[in-house]
Amino acid sequence: MSRVAGLLEGKSSLITGAGSGIGRATALAFAREGAWVAAADLSLDNAKATLALIEKAGGQGVAIQVDVAEEASVAAMVAATVAAFGGLDVAFNNAGIAPAMVGASGQKIADVSMESWNRMLAVNLTGVWLCLKHEVQQMRQQGGGAIVNTSSIAGLLGLAGSSSYPVSKHGVIGLTKVAAADHASDHIRVNAICPGYIETPMTEESRQRHGNRIIARVPMSRFGEPEEIAEAVVFLCSDRASFVTGSCWTADGGYSAV
Ligand code: NAP
Repeated sequence: MSRVAGLLEGKSSLITGAGSGIGRATALAFAREGAWVAAADLSLDNAKATLALIEKAGGQGVAIQVDVAEEASVAAMVAATVAAFGGLDVAFNNAGIAPAMVGASGQKIADVSMESWNRMLAVNLTGVWLCLKHEVQQMRQQGGGAIVNTSSIAGLLGLAGSSSYPVSKHGVIGLTKVAAADHASDHIRVNAICPGYIETPMTEESRQRHGNRIIARVPMSRFGEPEEIAEAVVFLCSDRASFVTGSCWTADGGYSAV
């Protein structure tokens, strides 16, 4: 029996935040589906660790250090991907930070400091825009591509006590819609993924502090696995999603449905 081709066979792909959690799981899923993977992260060591897992599973790629909040760093990341693979077909703009990383854990929006607000938006919103900007500039020269941005259920809901995080994630959905409308004529599809509560290092502290309270609000009564988000991203990036653009795909065990 002949082997079934992967959903991303022969595609050149780029993933930010690939050194951990959802980004790492998606990097492995992309490689499994036949893509060349540029695994980019703030920590080069963590990006290299993801690349080692890809190679162990028989895939191929490169590891890249990037700070998505810095335009020169993002431009260099896209250039390094193109230099390694000869183009860029698929991108997953996934790097992000949680309120605890900007000293705003449990904080109400009126209590957020300017410094905390600026850093959250710099990474979670400006960072996604910078990546998308440089990816689109490459993809439109090539004649098209597919991009997925990581939003969250916090991009759909207020989520009290989450400080500026939901603001940044609502912004990602707005950015996704604008980019989809602007670049459909360039044959570039742009979608957002909205994960619910997923078992990654980002949620470790909140799972320990009030995991049972969160699970009680999830119709499926559990946290999601990063691999369950990766599968949705694979689909959105693949040619099977050829008429899907400007959409927000929710994968949250039903959290935002009730
Ligand atoms: P994670 O395990 O903490 O992974 C996030 C990755 O992004 C880390 O490797 C981190 O690097 C990297 N990163 C942070 N700032 C960066 C920067 N300025 N430039 C480049 N890379 C940077 O978290 P995760 O749960 O997989 O989150 C991935 C995405 O999903 C985020 O956008 C998050 O907001 C979103 N999300 C997560 C959940 C959830 O429940 N886990 C739910 C909804 C949405 P370092 O570790 O080196 O800082």
